[in-house]
Amino acid sequence: MYKRYECAHCDFYEIARHDLYKEKCPACGHKYHVFEEDIDEGKYSWLFNIIKNHFYFENFVIRENSFLFIGTMISDFSRIKEIFENMEYYPFIRKKEEKIYLHLFKAKKPGKSRVILPMILLVATIFSVFYAGLSWATSLEEMGYVKNMWLTSLIFTIGLIFILGSHELAHKIIAMKNKIEASWPYFIPMPLFPIGTMGALITIKSPIPDKKTAIKLGLSGPLIGFIASIIIISIGIAISPAVPTAEYIERAEAYAAAHPGTYGIGFGETLILKMLVKMFLDAPEGYTTVIHPLTITGIIGVFVTALNLMPMGQLDGGHIARSVLGQKYHMIASKTIALSLIGFGLLGTFLRYPVWPGWMLWGFIGYLISSRGHPGAMDEVTKLTGKDKLLALIGIIIFILCVTPVPIYVVP
Ligand SMILES: [Zn+2]
Ligand SMILES: [Zn+2]
Repeated sequence: MYKRYECAHCDFYEIARHDLYKEKCPACGHKYHVFEEDIDEGKYSWLFNIIKNHFYFENFVIRENSFLFIGTMISDFSRIKEIFENMEYYPFIRKKEEKIYLHLFKAKKPGKSRVILPMILLVATIFSVFYAGLSWATSLEEMGYVKNMWLTSLIFTIGLIFILGSHELAHKIIAMKNKIEASWPYFIPMPLFPIGTMGALITIKSPIPDKKTAIKLGLSGPLIGFIASIIIISIGIAISPAVPTAEYIERAEAYAAAHPGTYGIGFGETLILKMLVKMFLDAPEGYTTVIHPLTITGIIGVFVTALNLMPMGQLDGGHIARSVLGQKYHMIASKTIALSLIGFGLLGTFLRYPVWPGWMLWGFIGYLISSRGHPGAMDEVTKLTGKDKLLALIGIIIFILCVTPVPIYVVP
C-alpha cells in the first residue's frame, strides 16, 4: 500500500511506496496530511524496467512533475543521464544521509532560440551606446581634444559592444560545448548618458550537467569580459593625449562657462584600474592626460564584471557559489549579500558619498533573483576537484580586482 502525503497549505503532494517519515511539506513547510492509496504499479513498469539495471532503489516517490528514487547508484551517472535524456527526462542526483536521491523531471522542450529579438536589441543598443559615446565626445571635440566626435563615438561603441559581446559569447561557447541550451545574448539598450546600456545577458534553458560545468559556465563570461576590459583600457590610455595642465584647465573652464549646468562623471578606482593607470599612464610634469572615451568603456566593462560576479541567484557568481557552497549556503549567501547591498545603498543615499546609491537597486534585483533560487546542476554528488576550486578562486580574485564602493559618481 502506497502512502499519499498532501500539503495542508499548497498543492504539493508525494505518493510513496514506503514511509517517508515526513510530517512537513518540503515546498512550504506546512503540515502534511497522510492517507493510504492504492497505486497500480503496472503503470510504472516501463520505468522500473529501465531503472533496475542502473539504480537500486529502496523507495519510489511520485510527485506532480517528477519521480524520485531513493537508494544507490549501480551505473555511472553519465550512463543514467544518457538513458533518461533520450527518453526526454532530466535526471538530477543529490546525496542525503549516504543515500542517493535520483529525481526525474520531464524535460520541457526548449523553444527555438530566438534570433530576431536579440538582433533588434543589439541594433538598438548600438544606437543607444553610440548616443552615450557622443555625449562624451562632443565636449572633448569642443575643447579641441578630439578631432571627430562621430569617429570617437564609433570607437566608444565598438569598445563597449566588444567587451559585453565577448563576455556573453564566452558563456555561449561553454554552453554549446557542454550541450546546454542557451539563448543568444540579449543586449539591453538604455538611451541615457553616460553608458547607453544596462549590459547583456543570455538565458540558460536546459540544466547544467554538473558542478564543474556550472563553475566554468559562470566564470567564462566574467573572465573573458575582464580580459577584454583590460585590453580596451590599455588601448584607451595609450590613445589618450597628454596636454599642458594649464591649457586643459583653461579650456575646461571655458567649456563649463559656455555650457552652464554641465557636470562630469567620475569612476571609482578599482584595483585593476589602479594597476593599469600605474603601468600605462604617465603624463610628464605639468601635463594632464585627457582620457579618451574608449578607456571609459573598459571601466564600464570592469564594473559589469563585478556586478555579474556577485554570488546571487543565477548570476555568473551565483553559478560558482551554488557549486562550491551547495543549495543551503548558496541561498544564505545570496540573500545576505542582496540585503547588505540594500543597506549599503541606503547608507549611500543618506551620506551621498562615499557609497554608490545604485547598490540599493542591485540589491533589490539581487534579492528577487535570489528568492527564485538556483536549480543546481544535475549531478551535485560528484565532488569538485582542486582544479575546479581553483577556477572558483579565480572568480573571487577577479571580483576583488573589479569592485569598488563607488563605481560611478557625478562631479558637479
Ligand atoms: Zn506545502
Ligand atoms: Zn555573464
